[in-house]
Amino acid sequence: MLSHGASDSADLAISDSGTAALISVASAVDLRIPTTMQALVKARPEAGAELREVPVPSPGPGEILIRLEAVSLCGTDLHIYRWDDWAQSRMGTYLPRIFGHEMAGRVVAHGPGTGAVPLGTRVAAETHLVDWTCYQCRTGREHVCANLRILGVDADGAFAEYMTLPERNAWPSEGLAPEIAALQEPMGNAVFATFVEEITTASVAILGCGPIGLMAVAICKFAGAGRVFATDIMPHRREMAAALGADCVIDGAGDVVAEIRRETGGTGVDVVLEMSGAEAAIHQAFQMTTNGGRISLLGLPSRPVTLDLNNDIIFRGVRVYGITGRELWRTWYKTAALLREGLNVAPIITHRLPLSRYADAFDLLSQGVAGKVVLLPSEV
Ligand SMILES: [Zn+2]
Ligand SMILES: [Zn+2]
Repeated sequence: MLSHGASDSADLAISDSGTAALISVASAVDLRIPTTMQALVKARPEAGAELREVPVPSPGPGEILIRLEAVSLCGTDLHIYRWDDWAQSRMGTYLPRIFGHEMAGRVVAHGPGTGAVPLGTRVAAETHLVDWTCYQCRTGREHVCANLRILGVDADGAFAEYMTLPERNAWPSEGLAPEIAALQEPMGNAVFATFVEEITTASVAILGCGPIGLMAVAICKFAGAGRVFATDIMPHRREMAAALGADCVIDGAGDVVAEIRRETGGTGVDVVLEMSGAEAAIHQAFQMTTNGGRISLLGLPSRPVTLDLNNDIIFRGVRVYGITGRELWRTWYKTAALLREGLNVAPIITHRLPLSRYADAFDLLSQGVAGKVVLLPSEV
C-alpha cells in the first residue's frame, strides 16, 4: 500500500494490485506487503480470541512497519486471553485489540520521519511505549514514564503477520535467531532484576521458576553469582532450574526459609529475586534475606500483601527494588551482551507453534507445563 512506503519512495514501488514491491534494498529480505493479514484479535469482552483477516496497518509518523517472525507468550497475554479481572479493568474499553508483545521481526516499511533503522533489519521491541517528554523520561527513567502505554495492551500488538512500532522502540537484533531476539524483552526483566545491584559472588535465591525466573537462574550463574538457590512448587520447573545451573533447587511448598537458612549456615542469602508473585513467596523473600541484603520484587501478587516494615525491612537494613519493564536502554545493552558472550536461554523455549494454533499455545501456558511458548506468525 502506498501509505506504507510514503517515505521510502526510492525503495518501494506500487504495483497494480496495490502491493508494494521491492526495487532496491541491500538485503535479500522480501519487502512486498499485502493489504490484509492474519491477526489474533481480542474482539469481545469474554474469554478467548479470534484469528481474523484484518488490514495490514500503515506506519504513521515516527513508526515503522515490521513483518513478524516470532512472538512469545507472556503471562499478560494469558490474562488477556482468559479475560480475567485484571484484563477487564485494564483493557475493557480498548476492544477489538491485537495483543501479544514479545516479538521479533524485520522492518519492511518506514513511516514519515523514520529511517534510522534500515529496511530488512531484524528488530525486537521495547514494549513500554513512552512519551519521551515527561519528568521520568527526561531523567533517565523512561521505564516508569508517567504516561506509559504498553504494546499489545494500549496499542495493537504482535500476534499478527505485521505490526507498527515507534521506530524509537525498535532494538536492532541482527545475529540473533528470531525466537531469541523475541526473548530479549522478558529476559530484560530478569536482567534488570538481577543487576540492579552487584551480583558477582553473591548468594542468590530465585523464587518462582517460570520463564523469567529460569532466565534469572541462567543469568546469575553466567555472571558469576555465588550459590544460586531456585524454588518452585512444580517439579518440572525445578528440574529446568537445575539444568540451567541452579546449585540447589527447593520445593516452594516446603519450608523454604528453613532450608535456605540451613544451606547458608544460618545467615540467609545476599539477594532474593522474587519472580512468582505468590504471597507466601513474598513473605519467604523477606525471611530468607540476610541483614543488609537486597530484594528485587518482580512477580505481581494478585491482591495487596502486608509487610512488617520494622522487622522485614527497616531494622534489618534490607533494600527493596520494584522491578517493572527494563531500563532504556541500559538493560537492553546488558541483555545483548550476555547473549553475545554465550549465555544460552534457548532451553527455556519448550514449544514453537504456528499462529493458527494459538489455542493450543494458551492451553500449554494455562497448564503451567511449558517454558516459553513461541508463536510463528509467518507460519499461519
Ligand atoms: Zn510480557
Ligand atoms: Zn514519559
